[in-house]
Amino acid sequence: MKILIVAERRDGELRRVTAEIAAKAKAFGDTEVVEVTGTDRYHPVAHANAVVARAKSSGADVVLTGATLNGRDLAARVAAKLGWAYAADCTDASVKDGAFQVKRPMYAGKVRATLRVPTPAVLSIRPGAWTLPAGTEAVKPAAIAADASAEKLKFARFEPTATSGKRVSLSEARVIVSGGRGLKGPENWKMLEDLADALGAATGASRAVTDAGWRPNEEQVGQTGKTVTPDLYIALGISGAIQHLAGMTSSKVIVAVNKDPDADIFKIADYGVVGDLFEFLPAFTEAVKKTKAGA
Ligand SMILES: Cc1cc2nc3c(=O)[nH]c(=O)nc-3n(C[C@H](O)[C@H](O)[C@H](O)COP(=O)(O)OP(=O)(O)OC[C@H]3O[C@@H](n4cnc5c(N)ncnc54)[C@H](O)[C@@H]3O)c2cc1C
Repeated sequence: MKILIVAERRDGELRRVTAEIAAKAKAFGDTEVVEVTGTDRYHPVAHANAVVARAKSSGADVVLTGATLNGRDLAARVAAKLGWAYAADCTDASVKDGAFQVKRPMYAGKVRATLRVPTPAVLSIRPGAWTLPAGTEAVKPAAIAADASAEKLKFARFEPTATSGKRVSLSEARVIVSGGRGLKGPENWKMLEDLADALGAATGASRAVTDAGWRPNEEQVGQTGKTVTPDLYIALGISGAIQHLAGMTSSKVIVAVNKDPDADIFKIADYGVVGDLFEFLPAFTEAVKKTKAGA
């Protein structure tokens, strides 16, 4: 089977999801990693045309992208232009009898479906779904040029605004510290950020918080926000509404802090702390800092 992987960069660096896909896809067959060049940003039509041309000329059976904002947009366009099967936001994939068997969440994460996707196909893979083995060789994508001048329509820039220069991107973060209405107000976010900084984590939020304007929309996790798959998700003062869970239940370890012992978040948490987050947070951050300093 011939696999074509479309690499993606963020701030000049290849995104981790590209390396995750490249490492795993070797098991499926011959892989080629390409990146679209020639435009200063993501151009939906120009990029899709470039990938379609390469998929045809290379005889690819499968095109893989990250299930990022741009990756999902690109994958859907490429599948439509090629007339190939398409599965978005896959959390796993394997090859069986010449077809792909993929797993993907459906109905806002309530169902995890296993689908048989016949080739040729386009799949977008959720960041963090595939572990990147230590010592994996760096990916060196081949450049394929996009013809942006051929694009008749101008598209809005499709890139999330950075919330903080020093923090990692929410979609690809290995650790996320997320806050809910239990934090009481934006003025208390400094406490949450202190913990995030101590852990090298990204910050997330519930929709109650982003709707209230306490935090920017791009930090929202959930059904109508971002879907995340970190190694560790710390939920502070978040009740665990189904729409929030839809965005984070695939996290590998979930820690919840809530003063209500019956909060729904405890149903999916691996570790739960029943208590006041305003007492827990400073003490926990201090403990993390001491542990990191080797004290
Ligand atoms: C169509 C639709 C889409 C939606 N999409 C999303 C989405 O993408 N993401 C999302 O998050 N929500 C989404 N929602 C909203 C969702 O239903 C909930 O309203 C929201 O997640 C609640 O946010 P919260 O947990 O921060 O607030 P609350 O439900 O108010 O919970 C606050 C929690 O903090 C706890 N708490 C309070 N004080 C403390 C303290 N001192 N110490 C410890 N704990 C404390 C409380 O016990 C409570 O459990 C959506 C809703 C709809 C209808």
